[in-house]
Formats: sequence, C-alpha cells, structure tokens
Amino acid sequence: MSCEVSLIAYTPQPARVVASAAKLCYSPSKASCLFDGLDAGAVSGFLKKLKSVGHMSPFEHASFSFAVDGLSRVASHQLVRHRVASFSQQSQRYVRMAAPEAVMPPTVSSLPEAAALFESQLKSAADAYLRLISLGVPKEDARFILPHGALTSLIVTMNARELHHFFSLRLCRRAQWEIRSLAGKMLALALEAARELFDPAGPPCLSEGRCREAESCGQPFSSVEEILTKTDD
Ligand SMILES: Cc1cc2nc3c(=O)[nH]c(=O)nc-3n(C[C@H](O)[C@H](O)[C@H](O)COP(=O)(O)OP(=O)(O)OC[C@H]3O[C@@H](n4cnc5c(N)ncnc54)[C@H](O)[C@@H]3O)c2cc1C
Repeated sequence: MSCEVSLIAYTPQPARVVASAAKLCYSPSKASCLFDGLDAGAVSGFLKKLKSVGHMSPFEHASFSFAVDGLSRVASHQLVRHRVASFSQQSQRYVRMAAPEAVMPPTVSSLPEAAALFESQLKSAADAYLRLISLGVPKEDARFILPHGALTSLIVTMNARELHHFFSLRLCRRAQWEIRSLAGKMLALALEAARELFDPAGPPCLSEGRCREAESCGQPFSSVEEILTKTDD
C-alpha cells in the first residue's frame, strides 16, 4: 500500500513571486512595481542566481499545500519533525477508525509467513480497538492499542525553501523508504507546478554535487528525473 498525495493549492505564479522578492533586494524600485515588470527570462535569471549563491530566503514567499492519505503514523511522526512546515492531521481522539488499517512494509508483504503474521496481529489490534469502544472506552484511550503503522491523513503546507530542505533530507537514498516515497510524490507535484523553483531539488549529491552522509551510498543522483524514478512505487 502506498500513500496518495495531491497538491491542493499553491501561491499563484510562484516563480515570479520569488524572483520579485529577490529583485527587490537589489533594486531601488518600489516593492509594488517589481512583480509586473518581470518577464520569463528575468525570472529564470533571478532563480538561477539565488540557487547558485544559496540566497534562499526569497523562496519563502511561495507556499504549497499537499493533501496526504494512507500514510502510516510511523512516517507522519517523521514528517511532523519538520518544524517550519504547517500540519493538520486527522485526530485519533475525535475520529473513530472504522476498520483500523495499517501500512504493510514491502519487506513484510514479500514474505507470505510474515505477511500472514502481520495481518493477524493487525486484525487482533483492530478488533480490540473496536471492542474497547463498544465497552465504553473513549476513542482517545482505545487508540492506544492501534499499531504504529496505522493509516493517517494530513494536510501539509511548506514554503519552497522548506520544501528544498525537506527534499534534501528525505530524498536521499539512505532515508527511510516510506517518507522517501512521500517526498518523491511531493517533488513530482512541486515540479509540475513550478519546475523552475525545484529543478534541481533533492539530496546534496544532486543539489550541491557532494554527499553529506557519514556512509555514502556511492550512487549520486544526476537529475530530478532519476530521483522520481527511484522513489516511484
Ligand atoms: C536520515 C534521518 C535520520 C533521522 N534520525 C533521527 C533519530 O534517530 N532521532 C531523532 O530524534 N530524529 C531523527 N531525525 C530527524 C531529524 O533530527 C530532524 O528532526 C528532522 O529531519 C527535521 O529536520 P530539521 O530540524 O532540519 O527541519 P525543520 O524543523 O523543518 O527546520 C528547518 C531548518 O530550520 C532551522 N531551525 C528550525 N528550528 C530551529 C530551532 N529551534 N533552532 C535553530 N534552528 C532551527 C534549522 O536550520 C533547520 O534545519 C532523522 C532525520 C533523517 C533525515
């Protein structure tokens, strides 16, 4: 099972907004004059310059909101560690899980005996959850029996600077597989909406041409397309 991600909203003309903010830093013009005066070539030029010198604060003016369904709470716990992002997550206090489900990792689903064990333990936990509720235990306490892999839904908003940071950490080949898959889907959508802002985006092997891992995988990415192929599941 793999999570579903959609880009539900983003800043209109995000690349132009970022380029206007950058131009303002170096221009004697009034802030209100800059947006309309930028043509596509100037936008590209500013974005290239910002990325090359690492002047990333103008990227904070463009934000992107994603809807995520079918992610495990294992991965959402990692996701919400990104403090500069904004999150709204389905509450297990207020929402009764109809038939509690969980993400089954590929290493489990690929082994029939492991998959059967996983399924039976999940069913026991789900049955116990529903039974506790029927005995009068509040949802907020019955949920303690649910597994870490239980499914969740979130709306996540990140600005383009935080997205670059998130992609740099979570698209590394050494990142945990589920959040890496989520990050790959978010990158694909971000590229569709604003290619100039996010090409290149990804781990330092691609964006900086060097690896920061203590133990490198030895397989640097050469393009965002390669990242998308490798995180596609
Ligand atoms: C491969 C991997 C393994 C990990 N393993 C563990 C683990 O074992 N245990 C664990 O607890 N976590 C672990 N983490 C989570 C990690 O420690 C971070 O919490 C998470 O990646 C969010 O990164 P961040 O703090 O840079 O991002 P954000 O919270 O999004 O922050 C973005 C940037 O803003 C700045 N910033 C944000 N808040 C502050 C602040 N309060 N003070 C100063 N600067 C700030 C920093 O420059 C930061 O990089 C792991 C992450 C990865 C990618």
